[in-house]
Amino acid sequence: MDERTFIMVKPDGVQRRLVAEIISRFERRGYQLIGIKMLQASAQRIDTHYAELTEKPFYPGLKRYMLSGPVVAMAWKGKAAAATGRALVGATNPRQSAPGTIRGDYCIDVGRNVVHASDSVESAEREIKIWFQADELVGYADPLSDWIYEDA
Ligand code: GDP
Ligand code: MG
Repeated sequence: MDERTFIMVKPDGVQRRLVAEIISRFERRGYQLIGIKMLQASAQRIDTHYAELTEKPFYPGLKRYMLSGPVVAMAWKGKAAAATGRALVGATNPRQSAPGTIRGDYCIDVGRNVVHASDSVESAEREIKIWFQADELVGYADPLSDWIYEDA
């Protein structure tokens, strides 16, 4: 129940007015929002976030894309948050993302896939540290947890 994941509305998602829709998918699923902010990323932050990808041929385009406008960075908490967050977001290439997923419903090209989700618990913790200071995250009781979890 304490698992966390990092979700980010990418610049195209912000421009296309998908922020509320993306938040809503996680809220309605039952996850708890514990941090959120809008910011224009720096080149350095994008390099750190995508450290595993900086040598890929598509990286210069990915970096331009991620710097092309503001993003909305979020931390979400709940059981299996990382794996379920990936499932809610859908496959990396939207042409392979199932309808019903965020990418499967709202985008077409891999280089304009509207949202980021951490790919594991370890990535989530690494990414949350890149985007949030400790005092930008909140902890609060969830009065719905008995209704969302059978073992709350
Ligand atoms: P994700 O975890 O599903 O976002 O996918 P990755 O971590 O593999 O890649 C990060 C981001 O880089 C993706 O969301 C895409 O926006 C972009 N990306 C990944 N692979 C490709 C590719 O082959 N071509 C292009 N143009 N962009 C890619
Ligand atoms: Mg990834």
